[in-house]
Amino acid sequence: MTQNRQIFTSGGAPAQRFEIRLRVGRGFRRRVGAPHRLAPAGLLLIGVAAVMVLAACGFSTATEGSQPGRAAEAEDRDAETTGGAGHERPHPEFELTEEELAELTETLPDEIAEGITSDARGFLDAVLPVLEQDPELTRLVNKDLRLPEDYRPEDLVELDEYRDRFVLNRSGMQLSERALEPLSEMVAEALSEGITLDLSSVYRSIDYQRDLFARYERVHGREQAERFSAEAGASEHHLGTAVDFGSITPEFADTPAGGWLQENAWRYGFSLSYPEDKEWLTGYIYEPWHYRYIGRPATELKRAYFDGIQHYMLVFLHEHRDTLERRLRS
Ligand SMILES: [Zn+2]
Repeated sequence: MTQNRQIFTSGGAPAQRFEIRLRVGRGFRRRVGAPHRLAPAGLLLIGVAAVMVLAACGFSTATEGSQPGRAAEAEDRDAETTGGAGHERPHPEFELTEEELAELTETLPDEIAEGITSDARGFLDAVLPVLEQDPELTRLVNKDLRLPEDYRPEDLVELDEYRDRFVLNRSGMQLSERALEPLSEMVAEALSEGITLDLSSVYRSIDYQRDLFARYERVHGREQAERFSAEAGASEHHLGTAVDFGSITPEFADTPAGGWLQENAWRYGFSLSYPEDKEWLTGYIYEPWHYRYIGRPATELKRAYFDGIQHYMLVFLHEHRDTLERRLRS
């Protein structure tokens, strides 16, 4: 994985522009962690040393401008005024440097972080429409981050009124209206291919979840219950946008409906929340029946840059949405 990284572009008159491009391989993210904290003189020294090393190694460098001496002065001046953070901004709609983006990815697994930093423009292109969505769609809810006791979505609709669209495994189910049309379209397309996606559990109130968890705890013990059921406030079902399909058993993965969802749910903005072999990460066993509506922009972002793992993306958005929004050009 290689990329061009512009390490410095001065401001000032066009004749004084001076830029160096160098190729960096894997580990780019690790190497860019500190330079912005260096004093301007230190940064300049590193720049000069880098040019010498690159020349000695035969790496390609491209310079622009014919007066390196004056360009170096301009670089020094610019470094003083910007605190040394003169790095390229990879996306025209964000005031965010490559270095800053790399810092945002530091808590992600290396491969995911490198996928993002090596395609910063593409990543930010994919992030933009997610920032434009209702933030509730990608709100992080888990064992560590619970919803308030009085949380209740304001747009719940009674699914009994839509029996012409859905196969409902019980009455009285409610769903957030935000997910209604996408779910209708998904169910209709599956049906046109001979697949029935029946709905077993949708919105759950916090009180309902409390009773449910207590029942599981009595039967299975607390430790086991925690592996497949959430305590009150910690379930995505409170959001009104999570849907359990079919049997709600591991065997659902091997049914035509389970296979169809794995292949196609993302196209309708539905995301598998608890994938296989990720209990160490999500806190839950594989739940092939549990999908959450997060919107098509978010499922595309998840697939392209987060290795298809909803957890990584939601944590990233939870931690950095404010920064990304602040760094949007108005
Ligand atoms: Zn569920």
